[in-house]
This record gives sequence, structure tokens and C-alpha cells, in this order.
Amino acid sequence: MATTNGTLSVVRTRTGRRCSHVETIDLDSKEESSVLVIYSGGTIGMVINEGGALVPASNALGRHIRRCPFLHDVEYAKKRFGDKCETSAFVLPVQGIKTLADTKRARRRVLYTLLEYEPLLDSSNMTSDEWIAIAEDIKKWYKSFDGFVILHGTDTLAYSASALSFMLENLGKSVVLTGSQLSLFEPRSDAKDNFLESLVIAGNYVIPEVTICFGRKLYRGNRTTKMDTEGFSAFDSPNALPLATFGIQIEVNYRELFRPIVIEKFRVHSKLNSNVALLRLFPSITLQTVSAFLRPPIQGIVLQSYGSGNVPSNRVDILEMIEAAIDEGLIVLNCSQCIRGSVSNAYETGKVLCDIGVTSGADMTPEAALTKLSYVLTKDEWSVEKKREMLERNLRGELTVTSPTPSMSEAVRMVSFSAKHNLELDPYTAANVLFPALLGSAVLDDNPNRIEQLLSSGADLSQPNVDQRTPLHIACCEGKTSLVEFMLQKGASVHTKDRYDHTPLNEAVQHDHHEIIKLLVNCGAHLMIPPKVLGEKLCKAAIRGDVTKLKSYKIAGANLNQCDQSGRTPLHVAMLHGHKECALYLLGEGCRMDAEDMMGLTPRDYAAKAGSIGMVTLLETKNTLHHVKVL
Ligand code: ASP
Repeated sequence: MATTNGTLSVVRTRTGRRCSHVETIDLDSKEESSVLVIYSGGTIGMVINEGGALVPASNALGRHIRRCPFLHDVEYAKKRFGDKCETSAFVLPVQGIKTLADTKRARRRVLYTLLEYEPLLDSSNMTSDEWIAIAEDIKKWYKSFDGFVILHGTDTLAYSASALSFMLENLGKSVVLTGSQLSLFEPRSDAKDNFLESLVIAGNYVIPEVTICFGRKLYRGNRTTKMDTEGFSAFDSPNALPLATFGIQIEVNYRELFRPIVIEKFRVHSKLNSNVALLRLFPSITLQTVSAFLRPPIQGIVLQSYGSGNVPSNRVDILEMIEAAIDEGLIVLNCSQCIRGSVSNAYETGKVLCDIGVTSGADMTPEAALTKLSYVLTKDEWSVEKKREMLERNLRGELTVTSPTPSMSEAVRMVSFSAKHNLELDPYTAANVLFPALLGSAVLDDNPNRIEQLLSSGADLSQPNVDQRTPLHIACCEGKTSLVEFMLQKGASVHTKDRYDHTPLNEAVQHDHHEIIKLLVNCGAHLMIPPKVLGEKLCKAAIRGDVTKLKSYKIAGANLNQCDQSGRTPLHVAMLHGHKECALYLLGEGCRMDAEDMMGLTPRDYAAKAGSIGMVTLLETKNTLHHVKVL
């Protein structure tokens, strides 16, 4: 059953049956970006029912958003969508004060579509089925949107964010979860700011993590915990700095971002093991209680120990029982009951756990530990030993690995340089401006050592320069293949768009660097060009007979049968202009000879009308052309 609230929404039943479709947004300006908002439920969209209790209201949020001037710019929507503006995508208004630095960065018009789940749930009623549904929807719409926002109840928000962080493998785009303590329908509520700031992040910044935006901060989801049932600053990440803070400026802490450092495409791992449990120790816990947690079907438990990972070392009965269960293949992951800090082997009472084969959960939150266990247990290709090893490894920034503190010498030098020359740069601005510039020049000089040095001094590969270009854009444009590979392995983002709306992939295509295009595609990059616009670009290449460019687009994932606004495919145009090599290439790639343009004319008709006998013959011998496939 599709919703009728006038939003571009879709309904998914709890069994996962899809009943409608999400309408994607064709961006037609460099100043726009697209975000898919998945609405799963929570206080943010709740109303009071007849019994006086808060419940989620179906088909209401979209209608409300359309009437909220701070969440939907009616004038822009009218201009942009004309007659369809009542059912079109929502448009986030832009910040009025143009002089703020972050307004220049967060300058895109965020167009967003709402995908409402059915039924909407209080997050206390959510299960791993909903996490899987959300992950599958992100997978389905991954290439169609710049970023994702999930509206969610706060009660189990940290569990969902943690689970999604593991399930979304090699994530390259921003996925922001948010909710609120009071409903968006209330006049005094935290919902507006949480939602709005989530949209700004998802539409303007490539923060390739599952994050939680709440109370003026952006946190790494798997580091976060709900700390407060009443306050608007309900979440915190006690063992990790926020990834961004929202003041007058939006300050993104680029150095803290966690990125995949492998050249692999985004994928979703949509299996989770439910045979896991959280066992919180307390003085005088009985052997029977512990034993209930260690019995089949349980395959893994998070043991919440005291302080820095301590258990009663004088309870030999309990320790022997845990050891026997571990020997049978059960995984026991040790985490602290303390909100802040990590487990360690400092005390004898902590060391005993290590001795009997308990796995260290370092400084993970219970939510992250439980969902990581649930994820790791479904990796059938891993042995139990490997699973234990992966639990101790930092997979998504969920735990702290002690690494040498990077030297700040470069940053210090920059600040003293600016002070000496009276540049009036505070350290934050100096780092933001100078690091990208220094990285850019290291790329031009083909100098990976200098890049490495800058990174260890606090520079970040995804931090854009004044034109919103990253070092990866520059390397892709300059054709520096090995530097591109080097930077991708250091976590450079393939999705960042510059001021001209170009991603690194656009740069590589524009300059026909085929090896680089392959690398980027293998790392999850994809073309984000509306189909008809892509058709025009392909036809332009075919007009010039530019086979190299057509190959560039093909490697980047373009469909070479894509037509332009007039219905012409590149093959039509190649025939019209008599570009034989180009036509041969397109035919070799399986381009259709029966494609009709707006006048009903096929490539064959074009060749005949252009009087190109040679081209007609070429078409007639098409069946013998399979051998000409140009790679
Ligand atoms: N019970 C609500 C939920 O988690 C609380 C909230 O959204 O703040 O769905």
C-alpha cells in the first residue's frame, strides 16, 4: 500500500515486501545534492493517541515537512518542479548568512526524498530484521543518492547505528542516523535541528561512516550510547571525539574520520547472528545465572566486567565454566561496565580472563560489542580463531588501537608561518587551508613520501581545498595512477564533489585515464550523471568520433545505448557523421541498431540519410562484427 501523503514515499512491510518505489532525483544544477531519508519510526514523528501514549503516526511526517519553512523551501520547489511541486522531492532551505565559511562549504541545495516504513516503529520494538531492511534499502539506492539519513527512535539508536556500521562494508557515503527527544510536530523540539543538521551533513559532506547526529554533534555511531532520557544532548561517545560539531560554523574533525583503506566496492553484509547475549557481572552472581548464558544456542557473549576488565578471580567455579565454554567454541568478549575507558590486563583479576581465552573488547560500547559479535559470527568463511582475531581488530573505528600520536610539527610550522606573516589565521583555519594546498602540491610533485609526512602531521586526504577539490581529484586529473592507488589505500574518498560537481571519477573520465577509472570503479566510484545528460556527453564524443572517450565512459560504468534529449544514441551520431571506427566500437559493445530517436529513425536510417554507403554496408555486416569488440 503506497502512502498518500503527497511525499515521494514508499512503504515496506515488516516482511520486506516492497509495495511502491522511491523516485530518484535528477540533479540539474551543480548547487544541488540528493539525500534519501529512510523513516523507520521513533519520537521524531510521534503523536499522542487516545490513550494518552506517544505512538508513531503514519503518513503524517511528509505532509508536515511540506508545511515547515525551515525544512522545505516552497519557492525553490515551485521554480524547480513546477506543477509537480506538491509531490516533488523536499528542498532544504540554504543558510542565509553567506559570509560564514561553512555556508560556503555546505552550500548545496539538499533535495531529499522520504521513504516511510510500514509499520513505523518505536525503536524499542525494532529487531535485527529492521537493521537488515535499512541496510538493503541503502544498497538498493546507493548509487542514486549522495547521502542517507535514517530517522529512528532514540532508545535503540546506538544498537542500530553500530549494527549498520558493520553491515555496510566499504562504505563511501555519509549515512546519518538521527531522532529526537520531542516530536517534530511539537513547537519546542530538538527534532528540527537534529533532522536539519543530518540533512546538511548527508548532502554536503562525504563522511563515509554510519554516524549519529544529535544535540549539535555528529558522532561515530558505533562509539555512541544513549546517556540521558530527558536532555536534548541525549547521546555521547565517551571514548571517541565527535566527528563534527555544529556551532556558528560546522567544524568537521577530518582527522578523526575512519575510512575503508582497501580498494573494494561498497557491499552489504545482510546476515546477523541472534544467538548472542550481554552478561553483566555483579557481586554474588550465581553459577546458575552464568551457566544460563553459556548454554546453546548461545554462540557468543559480551561479558561486562568491572572497571578495567576485572572479574572475581576467586570465583574459580565461574572461571572454569567460562573456560570450558570457550574450549567448546563459544566466544566471550570482555568489555567494561564503565562508560569511559578500556579493559586491560593490568590487574590479576583481569589477567585471568585473558589466560582462559576471553577476547578483549578494548573500549567498545556494549552496543558495538554485541552487534560486532553478531556480525562476526555470521562470517562463515572465518574460523573461530579468525573471528576472535577480528573482534579484537578495529574494523570501523569502533575501538581504539594504540598508535603513535602524530607529530603536529607541520601544523605548528604552518601556524608560526601565518603568525610571522601576519596572516591572522587561527590554527583551525590554517590547517583547513594549508593542508589541502600542501597535499595538492605533493600530488603534483608525485611525492608519496611527502603525502605520508603530511598525513602524519594531521592532514587529511578528504579535506577539500577552496574549490572543494581533494588531492584525489588532482591525481585523477593529472593521471598519476600509482598515487591514486596509494591514496585509495589511505582511505581517500571517491565520492567527494568539487565546486564544479566533479568527482574524482569525472576527472579521470574527462582526461581519459583508463587505469585510474578502473581503480576508482573497483573502489566503489560510479557516475552520478542524470541519464539524458550522460546521453548528451556520449553523443558529443561520438560526434567527434572520440572512441577513447567512449571507452572512458564505458569503463566508468556508462550504458553506451543511453540516448540524449532527442532520443539519439551515440550510434546514431556516429552513423550520421560517418565515424567508422567509432561505429565499429559501439557495435562491438552491443549498441542497438534498432534504437529509435524522437522521429522514429534508427542508426541505419541515419547512415542512409547521410548518404554514407560505407556505413550502411557496415551495418549490414554487423553479424560478422562480434570479433571487432574493442577492449
Ligand atoms: N521510545 C522512543 C523510541 O525509541 C524514544 C525516542 O524516539 O526518543 O522510538
